[in-house]
Amino acid sequence: MKLSHRITHITPGGSDGWEVFYKARALKAAGHDITELTIGEHDIRTHPSILDAMHASAKGGHTGYAAVPGTPDLRAAAASRIQARTGVPTTAKNVLITPGGQAALFAAHVAVCNGGDTALYVDPYYATYPGTIRGVGAVPLAIPARPETGFQPRAGDIAQYASGATSLLINTPNNPTGAVYSDTTLAGIADVCRTHDLWLISDEVYDTQIWDGTHLSPRALPDMADRTLVIGSMSKSHAMTGSRVGWVCGPEDVIDHLINLATHTTYGVPGYIQDAALFALNEGRPLEDEISAPFARRRMITETLLATQNIVKASPTHGAMYAMLDIRATGLSGEAFANQLLDTHQIATMPGESFGIAAAGHIRVAMTIDDARYTTSLQTLLDFAKDTAA
Ligand code: PLP
Repeated sequence: MKLSHRITHITPGGSDGWEVFYKARALKAAGHDITELTIGEHDIRTHPSILDAMHASAKGGHTGYAAVPGTPDLRAAAASRIQARTGVPTTAKNVLITPGGQAALFAAHVAVCNGGDTALYVDPYYATYPGTIRGVGAVPLAIPARPETGFQPRAGDIAQYASGATSLLINTPNNPTGAVYSDTTLAGIADVCRTHDLWLISDEVYDTQIWDGTHLSPRALPDMADRTLVIGSMSKSHAMTGSRVGWVCGPEDVIDHLINLATHTTYGVPGYIQDAALFALNEGRPLEDEISAPFARRRMITETLLATQNIVKASPTHGAMYAMLDIRATGLSGEAFANQLLDTHQIATMPGESFGIAAAGHIRVAMTIDDARYTTSLQTLLDFAKDTAA
């Protein structure tokens, strides 16, 4: 039987740059001691107090169908967190609770793209972006953000592709680069969106992981609240990756349509997960700071070690749990470097090429193992780079 073009073309096939990751996982499964600096998963588990809240909710009977848009309390809590951070008036009616940020990304594109529409996104990009766009039947078009600009996308580059496009997807703080978009970058992006009548889908799932500067949500920029859909998630901020809870925040009429979409797709998020998320949000900044603290420390370790040598350079790592390392001085591609590092030192990293073309000659290091092992592994990586360059 024939499947739809839409589902068979979510990922185009062929090499996706994730071979090193799969190789590392296979070696690990075969019993090898592999140091994984690959994916964005914390080295801690969900906080016991959040699990207690989840347990109490489930025991208390919140195991039936939950409100499809999200529980009123969780929607309100997410809205007030957003309002407190952005200054944009936000109510529960501006928020749909989703099963994680990924479902929110999909829903946001369903909301704004028709089949065949062009949906822009920035390269380097989070792995699922082009597939998400294809999944809704739209056509992904990547705008490169270059290492020379610290991976900040340039408004002029976006403008070149904007005419006739429907939406632009951005992500700050950024996975994979660790860039935090500057006020100037975001003002330029907002300008292009207004001029070319683009929807802006702003993925802010790393908004608690900022090491330099402050997070600016483009929804707060002039005349942007009506054309911006913000993607949020408890995965990174609260180490709740497995709980699958996040949100889309946007204009009320869009959220109404998205509730309709949720009714016909996910049918909501389990009530005990939502109650756990509510508990976590009510804990406020102290819990968020506790969860982001290890990455802040490891980012300092990264800077300190990189300063001791001059082969590997880091892009400015201002946020998120990753460091994007420029290994071009070794003469290797990111892919060759990552493969050789895995083969010779059992350290797995992600080639920059896994995230598009703009981060070629780089590797992404996820700062997701304990400080001592992180320090040793990074030192080994730097020594390997030095030997390779020699
Ligand atoms: N957006 C970005 C940039 C991510 O890095 C991730 C996960 O790694 C997600 C969205 C999806 O996160 P989740 O679906 O766990 O909320």
